Amino acid sequence: MSHTPDFFDPALLRKYNLNGPRYTSYPTALEFNNEVNDRSLLDAATDSPTGDLSLYVHIPFCHQLCYYCGCNKIVTRHADKADRYLDYLAKEIALRQQAFGHYKVGQLHLGGGSPSFFSIEQHTRLITMLQQAFKFKTDAECSIEIDPRHVDNDYLTGLSNLGYKRLSIGVQDINYDVQQAINRVQSTAHIAELVAHARVVGFESVNLDLIYGLPHQTEQTFKTTLAAVKAMDPERISLFSYAHLPDRFAAQRKIKNEWLPSAETKLSLMKLAMTSLTQAGYALIGMDHFAKQTDELAIAQNNSTLHRNFQGYTTQGDLDMLGLGVSSISAVYNMYGQNPKALNEYYAALDANKSVVVKGSQLSRDDMIRRDVIMELMCNLHLNILDIEDKWALQFKHYFAESLDKLSPFMQDGLVRVSDTEIVVEPKARLLIRIISMSFDAYLASQLHQQRYSRVI
Ligand code: SF4
Repeated sequence: MSHTPDFFDPALLRKYNLNGPRYTSYPTALEFNNEVNDRSLLDAATDSPTGDLSLYVHIPFCHQLCYYCGCNKIVTRHADKADRYLDYLAKEIALRQQAFGHYKVGQLHLGGGSPSFFSIEQHTRLITMLQQAFKFKTDAECSIEIDPRHVDNDYLTGLSNLGYKRLSIGVQDINYDVQQAINRVQSTAHIAELVAHARVVGFESVNLDLIYGLPHQTEQTFKTTLAAVKAMDPERISLFSYAHLPDRFAAQRKIKNEWLPSAETKLSLMKLAMTSLTQAGYALIGMDHFAKQTDELAIAQNNSTLHRNFQGYTTQGDLDMLGLGVSSISAVYNMYGQNPKALNEYYAALDANKSVVVKGSQLSRDDMIRRDVIMELMCNLHLNILDIEDKWALQFKHYFAESLDKLSPFMQDGLVRVSDTEIVVEPKARLLIRIISMSFDAYLASQLHQQRYSRVI
């Protein structure tokens, strides 16, 4: 018999199926302005009390366009573009090296695009550059996203030899009709072989990405996909909702509206996935990630020590983050800074010795207080009011009187409890956590903003 998990309440999800930010940062990227630059980033690195660093390197290239994609990427067949990109990464690293020299790198993540667009030789060059410029901890956690269509076992061996120990593979859906409609036809047997080989060569953790709401998906097809993914026994699974926004993402215009599952079917697909994965022993992490109970994310969630950054949930929270490469975002102490989104602008800034950081946010004290509150709620569904009062020398109920008013509908629905010492989000409200967290967001006065965010389902 299949038991729907406690946190899945269709009536609540329908009632609160609103647009809301994912809060990988606060203020969110929509609030970024052009008043920050390289100087702000360097000042923040100097002022930061944090000694640990997370490095993110964005590799924008992909071999082929997936029609659902909303990422910042460049589709090309020219492998040599990666060499030129590495030349520019070298320049950016040289610019950052000194200001970040006192940090110890605890995390390195390669995202994209497709980091597997790089050959192993190109990856070797990248790692060598990073290791020469920054001090890595011996136990630094190195992770990489790969596109399984262009990777073989030897490639994984090469990555493992370079120190990558966490692997993330985009599966999305294994059904052929779905794969054709999204222009991502790939072999499930090949992915299973890669996952098995990853273990042999020492990868400690494999994450598989799934998307629900894709064209031609039905409960039946998605059941098969879920079964195939569970059979590969990954440590983590990410379950994303496909947001069809063809006005914003040109590639999505290739996906016809009539191919998409209805809102009701999409809700059923979400329910199916959540039921199936929790029954298989995975813990729901945050809103859309699953991890084995023994995984450090699940343990951190149980201990209320989960953190959140631009890559999602993590166990290492108080790290500053330096983003390298086109469109990357840095989050250092009291600022966010983003590199140009267009490759030619990224190259031009480095050629002309202009600021590579072109926009971002310099956080006010109020931003930092609200960030603490929102991140704590997003990660741990709980807020210790006394901690916030101590840290920021304020009277919580006075400071957040307006936010607490906004929480009242959730309190009336029995989703949130507020006492003098804590805010507790009930387990059945966890999928609504970003909607609940919006009560503390000072930038959401304008409804216009909400058009830009994705819905809960
Ligand atoms: S989904 Fe990934 S592989 Fe596909 S186009 Fe987007 S970034 Fe590239």
